[in-house]
Amino acid sequence: MVLLMNVSELISGANAWGLSISEKQAEQFSLYGDLLLSWNRKFNLTRITEPSAVCRQHFLDSIAPMLFVDFSDRSLIDIGTGAGFPGIPLKIMNPSLKLTLLDALDKRCLFLREVAARLRFNEGDEKDEACGGCSAGSVKILHGRAEDFAASKEEKSSKRGKLKASPHLPEREIPGEPGNALRGSFDFAVSRAVAKLNILCEYAVPFLKIGGQFIAYKLDNRKVELDDAAYAMLLLGASCADNRIYTLPDVAPARALCFIKKDSATSEKYPRRAGIPEKKPL
Ligand code: SAM
Repeated sequence: MVLLMNVSELISGANAWGLSISEKQAEQFSLYGDLLLSWNRKFNLTRITEPSAVCRQHFLDSIAPMLFVDFSDRSLIDIGTGAGFPGIPLKIMNPSLKLTLLDALDKRCLFLREVAARLRFNEGDEKDEACGGCSAGSVKILHGRAEDFAASKEEKSSKRGKLKASPHLPEREIPGEPGNALRGSFDFAVSRAVAKLNILCEYAVPFLKIGGQFIAYKLDNRKVELDDAAYAMLLLGASCADNRIYTLPDVAPARALCFIKKDSATSEKYPRRAGIPEKKPL
């Protein structure tokens, strides 16, 4: 493949925010951009195909929480990551981040595995042969629905029966098997362009440790979404800690980040069965 996508707009945008991008990080973004645009010809990954727009609307937008949060050495799950946004740009910028990417579409997970391998995220990590190495180390890629991966073991075994294992998952991460290693285990959850905030809270909050934060990427209508999600947060043991507006160069409208903090353990009732949070939001 002829390299590389020009990422100068990302570099200048990040610099304007006080974030610096090393040569290695610039190369990783360029390669990621190349992979995104070449795979996009076969798979439907993104509607944004112009390199400068990819830089601003995917890469720069994804790293915006770095204006407010330090991700070093923290664990983070990106729910409905699609082609890897915002998780992969956050990982490029924070190499020590323990990243889990989750999406319901297997084709997107195939792309993400290629990106993780080509960007050498898991180099030096222990390989997990059970899944061809895809899910070991500091980047894990999970195919399935958030509701299934976040469900508590008790709730799952009593009501949901046995779930089918994905061939890409090592045994210990099959939802419904003893000891759900994912629930209550992340410092951060993030999600962009997946659902309304009240639905997202039901997907995300069960994954968090107490004190962890769910960062939802939203547009400037955040106040309405925050009001609509107030009851969901109460039921899930969470509350809104903050919300911030930011702008991307030459992109309207303004964007917003909602910071939802997990205050107490989430009832085992949540999340409800796959599809219910969307059909009947809390
Ligand atoms: N976050 C990416 C971005 O900002 O470009 C992708 C957004 S795309 C519009 C929404 C993604 O969420 C899709 O890839 C879809 O498969 C995934 N998704 C929707 N509901 C989901 C769920 N309940 N669990 C896991 N993934 C889900």
